[in-house]
Amino acid sequence: MAAPLTQGPATRGEEDVDGKRRGARVVSNEDSKDCILEPLSLPEGPGGTTTSEASPSVPCIFCEEHVPATEQDKLLKHMIIEHKIVIADVKLVADFPRYILYWRKRFAEQPITDFCSVIRINSTAPLEEQDNYFLLCDVLPEDRVLREELQKRRLREILEQQQQERNDNSFRGICMFCNEEFLGNRSVLLNHMAREHAFNIGLPDNIVNCSEFLRTLQKKLNNLQCLYCEKTFRDKNTLKDHMRKKQHRRINPKNREYDRFYVINYLVSLSLHSKFDCISANKISLRAI
Ligand SMILES: [Zn+2]
Ligand SMILES: [Zn+2]
Ligand SMILES: [Zn+2]
Repeated sequence: MAAPLTQGPATRGEEDVDGKRRGARVVSNEDSKDCILEPLSLPEGPGGTTTSEASPSVPCIFCEEHVPATEQDKLLKHMIIEHKIVIADVKLVADFPRYILYWRKRFAEQPITDFCSVIRINSTAPLEEQDNYFLLCDVLPEDRVLREELQKRRLREILEQQQQERNDNSFRGICMFCNEEFLGNRSVLLNHMAREHAFNIGLPDNIVNCSEFLRTLQKKLNNLQCLYCEKTFRDKNTLKDHMRKKQHRRINPKNREYDRFYVINYLVSLSLHSKFDCISANKISLRAI
């Protein structure tokens, strides 16, 4: 019962390609960065402040509905049901609150059809069963530039953080396995755990937000959970024995929760994003033929 997706008559037309519309113009000149950066300085509003960390909630693009920043899916569902808008590849958006606030401002200025493709659902069904949805995706140059800017900004922040941690000699941490306390550079503790306990989470320089990473792992152990297979044990000693005997003194590589602690993932998501650009751009242009 999959509904066929076809583009409706009100899709963004060829004038986009020629750059007659605002979205296309944004990246077509040398000042593109300034153009996109200017609206990115987001307005103060209910729940909306200039940084995502300080913003406890994210508003809907179209109405006054707000959800906590951690409940992104709830907001996406609301926007699909109430406003029939779908955001493509939303998981690749580096800073969701900022992305939403940006489009909230732009949609208040211009009609939705200036930015979104129209997707007709059930196009082969009788007219009354058909429905139009709006697709916001990075085929629109303005959206692409926004997504890239948010990713670059996040990468910049991560690299700054990594540099700061690299040089920081006031780190203080306790070994998760023998409780010995370490002062100085984070690498001292990480090297100790690798050498003494065969617990290797990677080169210290490849890790970012190290203290938070260690806290996350410690919390798992406190909950009597094995770091590798993530099974829960009845007491500390049983868990310790299990991790040693089974050689589970490593982290679960499938646990995506740890991705954010490795600098490489921020670089990869930037290049992946470019690949997705090409794929989705191809799809749309093929459909338009
Ligand atoms: Zn709404
Ligand atoms: Zn130790
Ligand atoms: Zn295990």
